[in-house]
Amino acid sequence: MHDVSSLFRPEPRIRVVRGGEIDPAGRCVVYWMQRSQRSRDNPALDLAIDVANALRLPVLAVFGLTAGYPGAQRRHYRFLLEGLPETRNELEARGVALVVRIGSPDEVVLALVREARAAVVVGDENPVRAGQQWRRRVAELLREPYLCVDSDVVVPSALFPKEEYAARTIRPKIHRVLADYLKPLANPDARFRWARGSIPRGEALGVDDLLNRLKVSGVSAVHGYRGGPVEARRRLARFVNERLPRYATDRNLPTPYMTSELSAHLHFGHISPLTVALAVQQSGAPRESVEAFLEELIVRRELAINFVARNPDHDRLAGCPAWALATLAKHAADPRPFLYGAATLESAATHDPLWNAAQTEMVVTGRMHNYIRMYWAKKILEWSPGPETAFDVALDLNDRYEMDGRDPNGDTGVAWAVGGKHDRPWPERPVFGTVRSMTFEGMRRKFDVDGYIARVRDVERGGA
Ligand code: FAD
Repeated sequence: MHDVSSLFRPEPRIRVVRGGEIDPAGRCVVYWMQRSQRSRDNPALDLAIDVANALRLPVLAVFGLTAGYPGAQRRHYRFLLEGLPETRNELEARGVALVVRIGSPDEVVLALVREARAAVVVGDENPVRAGQQWRRRVAELLREPYLCVDSDVVVPSALFPKEEYAARTIRPKIHRVLADYLKPLANPDARFRWARGSIPRGEALGVDDLLNRLKVSGVSAVHGYRGGPVEARRRLARFVNERLPRYATDRNLPTPYMTSELSAHLHFGHISPLTVALAVQQSGAPRESVEAFLEELIVRRELAINFVARNPDHDRLAGCPAWALATLAKHAADPRPFLYGAATLESAATHDPLWNAAQTEMVVTGRMHNYIRMYWAKKILEWSPGPETAFDVALDLNDRYEMDGRDPNGDTGVAWAVGGKHDRPWPERPVFGTVRSMTFEGMRRKFDVDGYIARVRDVERGGA
């Protein structure tokens, strides 16, 4: 009989949720795939394979497809479903079988652990609310050893046990250990395969059929914005070859995009941040572009994950710093020359053509450039009756329409724009107080606003 801890080397990325003896009659290792929906550069999958190889057992990857994911829309489901057949094929190439079943992920995993008689369960981590609730429930009800692996960050989140104040506090901590983690992974193959006919039954992975059976409604799909690991790698190659050299200078220009446009694929785990970081590091692009990109991908993204993991109010105004809450309260009664409710904002019917174009771009294409997102959310603060309403409206629109929404980066982006999160006080202004403001004139000085608006009109009419 083995104790599970004898089968792997402890490291900060691995959380032993339930330790103890392994059932010698166990018939497989279950990899509960939730956030890391991919085969390559997936430390949770690698650990499941290593443990299974040591126990001479096959690996069963399990995915629970819930119709009720909070806030998820038809566009998000399509994107996710497009990735599953590719991930299944790539898992099979490593000797791992994938079973997808419809149901709440915690229930699907618990049922399959019993049905397949798992010896050990290995899962990935996800700091968002739904992800945490499912993991807690599985931890309560499992009797088998259960390991959770932090597989969607470059530097394990456990190294930052407290909430970080700003990029400047987490940056040196990340850089101190980065070389230990910015390394290729082993990506081992499973040595013990499933006997023919012995894999538990799962769903066929037809995208349209599953969409209909899940009865997903909400915001419509975005055709041409494809999910999946293959598309993620195509975007990465395009970025490295065509855009990265100009990232340091042109990343804030929204026409044309000079950024990777990988955020949705990172959100769904279709590509690992490690894969992206290594490709960029080894690209031979100018050093300032490589550094500027790794700052966003690692420092800013992992700061956002730290915020969501360590601050229980990460998705409301209360999670913002005391100085910002105080200044916003002081200016709560300031006159607002323009006041818009959620419906006017959602239908892009404000007086500001740049803002309307940004909102329209998000609704039609499922994306909005980072620099414009800042302005878009700042204006919602300026035009709302109060900062709480602004926070809630901005996060709701972001999460429903952006393909990369419902992510720690969304909570953090809105908290930054509305509530000064990870920022500092600026000169005092009406409504904003000392929270940083942004103006239409300021945007005009930075880029060709009219060109951007014209491009969005073209996209809206079905052009390129
Ligand atoms: P690139 O510039 O190519 O960057 C590479 C990756 O680094 C991104 O994919 C992303 O994972 C990460 N990254 C880039 N900028 C940031 C940032 N400022 N903070 C944290 N991580 C970053 N990002 C989301 O992924 N989901 C959201 O819902 C989201 N909502 C936002 C809302 C507001 C109001 C603001 C101001 C920002 C928001 N962001 C969000 C952050 C940022 O706008 C996007 O990550 C970025 O625009 C994605 O484009 P890209 O992949 O081309 O980025």
